[in-house]
Amino acid sequence: DLFRQLKFRDPARARALAEALRHNMDAIGREVSVMHVCGSHEQAIARFGLRAVLPPGLELIMGPGCPVCVTDGPEVDEAVALAMQGVRVCTYGDMLRLPGTARSLADAQADGGKVEVVYSISQAVELAHAHPDEQVVFLASGFETTAVATAAVALASPPPNFSILSVHKYVPAAMEIVAASKETHIEGYIAAGHAAIITGWAIFEPFAARTGAPVVVAGFEPLDILAALVKLTELIREGRPEVANVYPRCVTKEGNLPAQRSLWRAFRTVTGRWRGIAEVPGGNLELVPELASLDARKRFRIDTAGVRDAAAEEEAKGCLCGRIMLGLATPEHCALFGTTCVPESPVGACMVSSEGQCRIWHTYGGVP
Ligand code: SF4
Repeated sequence: DLFRQLKFRDPARARALAEALRHNMDAIGREVSVMHVCGSHEQAIARFGLRAVLPPGLELIMGPGCPVCVTDGPEVDEAVALAMQGVRVCTYGDMLRLPGTARSLADAQADGGKVEVVYSISQAVELAHAHPDEQVVFLASGFETTAVATAAVALASPPPNFSILSVHKYVPAAMEIVAASKETHIEGYIAAGHAAIITGWAIFEPFAARTGAPVVVAGFEPLDILAALVKLTELIREGRPEVANVYPRCVTKEGNLPAQRSLWRAFRTVTGRWRGIAEVPGGNLELVPELASLDARKRFRIDTAGVRDAAAEEEAKGCLCGRIMLGLATPEHCALFGTTCVPESPVGACMVSSEGQCRIWHTYGGVP
């Protein structure tokens, strides 16, 4: 770890990259907005204060990069309803306090619902083995990176009392929504290195060609992100809507082919709602018909009527999560940020998750 820190957090190299960035922006000669779509990138940017070294005129915006945040309220309602009808619902810790339209899984747990926090889907399978008389449902959240782990279990004949409630999301589909937005003018994108380890960097080539916006795949150390910004501004300056990979130590053009095969053997993309954003064509991952017996939505009649309250949704409380995830606002635009809405009592999803921008800015500060 020390070696990595010395190599990828070296101040002299950071200064050189900041200088190259300034040079590129001087050559462009106007304001430029670029977007990253990853909570881990935002954590690094905020933690290391990288916005403080950006040249004037370069705006680095976080997009829909927090998988917990984009899980829609009605999707949480489904898990809450299952927990309240006696099913043991297992999920990752970040999902526990994520609000549904009216209640969270933590609320359901407090009301006697069976809710278990697990560190992996394998742990949920172990619980199914340990409780053969119960139905165990894994609320499967996360982007394609996490969906690969879900796929591996789904394809490995889990016990008959185990099923999956998939709220997995597919990032490239959301980038299309942002690119199509008339409210933003994003000229380039930084893509998440961990997702690209699975998908490969070539997956972004059609997007770059179609939208005219270059994409740079980046790792998560400060120098990775600065190097990505240098490359991105270079491509913008030269008018080249290409894909570049500045994370070659982990990402290849093709990606992890066995993981991709198992992902697409288990899932297919469908249109789904992302919290606060919109319907995203191809944005959700649903189990394929061949695995329907593992699909909690097919196995159970999920009645959310008793746990749903559209009037109580975050937007009605003044939460700007939707606009933040589209890159149209920052936490500082929200009147509730740091006052009514804090990590201990979050109003919206962006303050719940450690990958949410409000939570990150509350922890590290956002703009210099
Ligand atoms: Fe929503 Fe809270 Fe963020 Fe405001 S500070 S946008 S209420 S999560």
